[in-house]
Amino acid sequence: MNNYKLLTPGPLTTTNTVKEQMLFDRCTWDQDYKNITQQIRSSLLDLAGATNQEYTTVLMQGSGTFAVESVLTTAISADDKLLIITNGAYGERIVQMAEYIGLHYRAHSAPYNEFPQEAEIRGILEEDPAITHIAMVHCETTTGILNPLEMISQLAKAYDKALIIDAMSSFGGIEMDVPGLGIDYLISSANKCIQGVPGFGFVIAKLEKLLACKGNARSLSLDLYDQWKAMDADGKWRYTSPTHVVAAFSRAIEELIEEGGIPARAARYQNNNRVLRERLARIGIEPYITDDKQSPIITTFLFPNETFSFEDFYEYVKEKGYVLYPGKLTEHDTFRIGNIGEIYEEDIQNLCNIIEAYMGGMTQ
Ligand SMILES: *Cc1c(COP(=O)(O)O)cnc(C)c1O
Repeated sequence: MNNYKLLTPGPLTTTNTVKEQMLFDRCTWDQDYKNITQQIRSSLLDLAGATNQEYTTVLMQGSGTFAVESVLTTAISADDKLLIITNGAYGERIVQMAEYIGLHYRAHSAPYNEFPQEAEIRGILEEDPAITHIAMVHCETTTGILNPLEMISQLAKAYDKALIIDAMSSFGGIEMDVPGLGIDYLISSANKCIQGVPGFGFVIAKLEKLLACKGNARSLSLDLYDQWKAMDADGKWRYTSPTHVVAAFSRAIEELIEEGGIPARAARYQNNNRVLRERLARIGIEPYITDDKQSPIITTFLFPNETFSFEDFYEYVKEKGYVLYPGKLTEHDTFRIGNIGEIYEEDIQNLCNIIEAYMGGMTQ
């Protein structure tokens, strides 16, 4: 198999030094290993701009979805009601979870290429005082739209609602002031912008809120409160932890800090994304999301013409060292290009050269 770089929304391309951490088998009971877990938890708080007086971090085995579900099953009691704001597949997945768990909820959906509208959400909050929690995806990876965090944060504050943000594909790659935004539960995972490998998710939670959740969970393995209780004592995970992944993630955080922290990484991703969109626009490949709503993480592009075949394009680009992502829209033919991970402007320039050559070949 030829090696390739991933231009996908995660798992993504990681450094060799991150991968090398996985060559040693660590013991889950060992103090050195438990210290790695504690160090990760504290570094994540620093990255969120939060203190351990106000916030705590809980790591949860599984992919990012498991961490989202652990928040829903733990944070929302039988007396609560959740407003879920959606404009993509990941928001819809939260609705699906609410169904499975049997939560009281209300879904509000906006078109995939639009922001949810403040006036409409305000109307719902006015009309339905039973709502206690609001959940929204920050960067909807389905399309690459970057939802208005500030707007939703102000509404949650104004109406005194707990705020749950799926920042899976944005945390670490976009600056955000978690305490300032008043986010009560922020969810992300190891294999997105922190540039680790897949195997666990994490929740940055407001301590006072989490402490009130004892006994709420309808799932044993996804009980975020119990997970926190065990982990907070001494860094021991409740059940088997993905030891190799944890060690790799710890190294990934060090590398994020060495790069200059989130501001530096955000600037690199932003530049990758700008170059990508500018160069593809020049050859007639247009994004689905308008510039003002576009995230610096992943972009959805419309097929440039009717004869375009994604399978053929994918194979051509893969052969030359990069892997792209199919689209996820039903009404438009699209494909996606992620620009996060160990990806630099040089990669994006290379990729655009490859795509230009492909398009040139198509028109001959
Ligand atoms: C990646 C991602 C998830 C989690 O997906 P998994 O496949 O479970 O890791 C959730 N929400 C968003 C917005 C994502 O980008």
